Parts: sequence; C-alpha cells; structure tokens
Amino acid sequence: MSEAPQPGRGLNELVGLTLAALAEGRRRRGGPLPAGGPVRVRAAIQAALGVSPDRTSLLTRTGIGSTAAITGLVEALAAGSVDPADPWCAAHLHCPPLPVAVAADLAVSALNPSLDSWDQAPAATTIETEVVAALAALAGFDPTRATGTITTGGTESNLMGLLLARDAAHADAAGTGPSGRLRVFRSAAAHLSVDRAAAVLGLDDPPVAVIPTDGQDRMRLDLLRRALAEHPGPAVVVATAGTTDAGAVDPLREIAAAVEEHRRRPPLRRPPAAPAATGHPASSGWLHVDAAYGGGALFSDRLAACLDGLALADSVSLDLHKLGWQPAPAGVFLTPRPDGWPSVRVAHADYLRSEDDEAAGFPSLLDRSLRTTRRADSFPIAVTLRALGRAGLGALVDACHDLARHAERTVQADPRLESAFPVTLSTIVFRYRPRAGAAGSAAECTTDRLNRLNADIRRTLLLDGRAVVGRTRTGPDRAVHLKLTLLNHDATHADVDALLRLVAEIGDELAGEDGGGIGSVS
Ligand SMILES: *Cc1c(COP(=O)(O)O)cnc(C)c1O
Repeated sequence: MSEAPQPGRGLNELVGLTLAALAEGRRRRGGPLPAGGPVRVRAAIQAALGVSPDRTSLLTRTGIGSTAAITGLVEALAAGSVDPADPWCAAHLHCPPLPVAVAADLAVSALNPSLDSWDQAPAATTIETEVVAALAALAGFDPTRATGTITTGGTESNLMGLLLARDAAHADAAGTGPSGRLRVFRSAAAHLSVDRAAAVLGLDDPPVAVIPTDGQDRMRLDLLRRALAEHPGPAVVVATAGTTDAGAVDPLREIAAAVEEHRRRPPLRRPPAAPAATGHPASSGWLHVDAAYGGGALFSDRLAACLDGLALADSVSLDLHKLGWQPAPAGVFLTPRPDGWPSVRVAHADYLRSEDDEAAGFPSLLDRSLRTTRRADSFPIAVTLRALGRAGLGALVDACHDLARHAERTVQADPRLESAFPVTLSTIVFRYRPRAGAAGSAAECTTDRLNRLNADIRRTLLLDGRAVVGRTRTGPDRAVHLKLTLLNHDATHADVDALLRLVAEIGDELAGEDGGGIGSVS
C-alpha cells in the first residue's frame, strides 16, 4: 500500500492524528515502558522507520506522506517510550510535563521564534526577560538588577556559572595584578556537568577540588573551609541544592559565608583588595549553586526553607523540566551580579545586533547565551506560571515530597529494604537485602552479592516492562542502590507501596534462585 507523498496537511488535522496515535501507542505499550528490552524495541522502531535488512536507511527517495508518517511513527514512539506519566516510571529526574505546558510548547514549535535577535522574536524577547525576572525574584535576587537566560538545562547553566566566575576572576586579576589560578571546588555528590564545564573552560588546572560529603550526601563544610584556606587564589565553589541521587541540599548559607571569608582573605602576591565598585568586596570568590533539581522547592511554602542562603549565590542553575513539569528543555540560569557577561560579549554580528538599533530601543538577548538560534523555551514556563501560580506549583512539589516521605516509611517498615539517606525532596535511595533466615541470610550477604541482586532486580523490571526504577552507587563501598525519583504528582501512596512490594518480591525470587548462602558468591 503506498500513498503519494504530500507536501503536508494542515496542522489541525495532524495534531488530531498525533493525539490519537499517542493514545494508541500508549495502549499498545500497556505499562510504563515497552517489554522485551533493547532488542525488541530496536526491531519495532526500525520497522516503523521502514528500515529492514534489505533497506538500510530511513531516508528513501520518496516519502510516505504526512498522515502515514505521523500516525505510524507517533504510535511507535509512544509504544516504545518510557512514560513519566506512569506512576511506576520513577528512575530519573524525568517529569510528566503538564498539559498546559505541552500545549504552549506546540505554539512555540508552530511560530518558531528565535531569541538571538528582536526581529525574530519580538514577543518572546519580552517573555524571556519577564520569566527570568520572576524566577530571579523567586530565588531571592533583586529582579531589577539580576539577569539570566533560559538554557537547555543544568549542564548549560553550570557552564554559564563557571564561565561568569572565570570572567570575574580575570577582571579581578586585571585590576589588581596576578593572584593565582582560579580553582573550582565542588562536593563529591556534585553533578558530572560541573567537571565537564571546568574542563571545557580550562578550569581543571589546578584540578577541581572534590570536597567529601557527610552521611546525608551534603558537602562537608569543615573540609571546604580547610580546602579554601589552603588555596589563597581565586576560587569558585559549586554547591548543590538537590543532589541528583539523594536530593540533598548543601548548607548554602554556611558555604556562602565561607566563600565570603575567602573573598576577604588577602590574595597571593597582592595587598588586600579594596571593595569593588559593584558592592562585592572583590571577585576572588564566586558561589555557584546548582539547584537544577532542588530549585523547584522554591514554589513550596513548606520546602522553600531548605534553600535558605540561595540568595547569597553569585549564580544559580535551576531546571524546570524537573520540579517544574515542563517539557525539556527548560533550564534557567540566574545571576544577581549586573557586571556584564564579558566572554559572551566578545563576538559581534552586525546581522543580529547593531548599536543604532539598540539605541533606538530594539533589545537583543544575543549576549545572554552561548547559543545563536535559540528556541522560546521560556514560553511554556510563562504559560505555566500564569496558569498555576506559585501555590499551584507548590502543591505539586508538596505532593511529590509527600510521596517520597511515604515511600521512606514503607521502606523502613519492610525488613527486606533499607534506605541510604533521609528524604529531603522527592527521592528515596534504598536497597534490597534478603531477610535473615531466608535463602542467603542477611548476615551472609557480601557487598558483591547485594550489588548483583539489586542490579538484577532493576533489570528484571526493565525487561518485563513492569517498572522503571533508578540505580546508583553510594556509601564508602560504593554499593549498588535503587532509587525512586518521584516527580509524578498524580501517583498515589498505594502506587508507591505496590512498587516497593514488587521490588522486594523480585528480590526474594532472585535471592532464592541464586541459592543464597556465602558459598554461592563470586
Ligand atoms: C539534572 C541535573 C543537572 C543536569 O541538568 P540537565 O538539565 O540534564 O542538563 C545538573 N545538576 C543537577 C544537580 C541535576 O540534578
């Protein structure tokens, strides 16, 4: 059956087909993810793409037409996806987007504004500016001075934070003479993007200083203070508000005080600096807070206090595609320092921005990003903030927090499960351990065996298409743990209890199968 290629149908009709195909694909999937693992999914998707052993590329000379392509591929995508709207999809900081945000996102795709010049995005330029101002105020910054940009996520925001810190250190060194090399300090639980950003920016010599964490995954303040005291040069400290695994929040206020003390410390080979004109004493210390995960807690009256001290940061990363329920990407970078963004400003492009246009009142956000063409990802955020308000989003944050605390109680009540960290935000890290007396008694369980059991539990759930549970390594012996990252505000306590029961039951089955007992290990 072949259909003549069409240049395209009207959007109304295609959107209708898309919604129907989403529902049909979801029905075919029948759970949080497709059953059968990577081999089965690959075969199904290749078939939908028209790729087969005798036809190896999806790009054929003539197409199959919009109707067939949309229906077939949306169905295949939905059937083959992990669905964050399913209560048993709980592995990652991967949220079910709000319908209002998805609808707004469609408008962005249809209009395709680009933020690199006013004449590609007259409305979106103002929308981004106002979204940044609203979120800067939420973070506790003065919205008339603070600046920021919408980013692709925590990774880009962390890069921006370190970039501005490097600019500030250079400006400081230029004003007062060489003062040593900028060093990055981060905790052992910081996100991998911090080290990547440091490497990209050449801030890995001296190497990034890794500060150990305490038993709750938070940066050890005493060890940070000691490390800063041993480094008399410029420093950028990256604190984490919501570690990716445990959801722990570093002691922000105390870390800010340590950075402030470092700023006032007489730098290498130069007399104590006079306070800079911006009101900051000097720029040999910069605090970047990676609140990619935890920033959403600002919407909640109950949880906002967790982020006490955030307003003392020099820059902040915040992801609204996590606790914010936006379609990705919806990253936000904020800074209260109005000093300009020198590294981003170095380049000029007359076709995008001219001084006479700017003098005539045509603003440009070109110098707010390392990107050029830039989607209006601020728009779904703006629509969501307008639709739900702070209380509406706060209620969603609270629902996820409640769910995690409930999960914690369930884990504590089950002798086969043990939790690794107290719940701060919406994540619980735990592992299965066979009950004493059962096959492979607890006392005999080596770390190796526990690691294998927990990894096998997760893979079993994935292969069966039954649940998506996260996994990580933690503790002094880097033991394999499971985690539930609960971002689905519609999930119920009963959903979470049933999932934890399933994890423990599969653990029991696997522990029984591998015979148990110390002799069967490695
Ligand atoms: C998710 C996350 C990041 C990375 O953000 P992306 O949006 O995936 O680029 C950085 N830091 C933390 C703490 C995160 O949780």
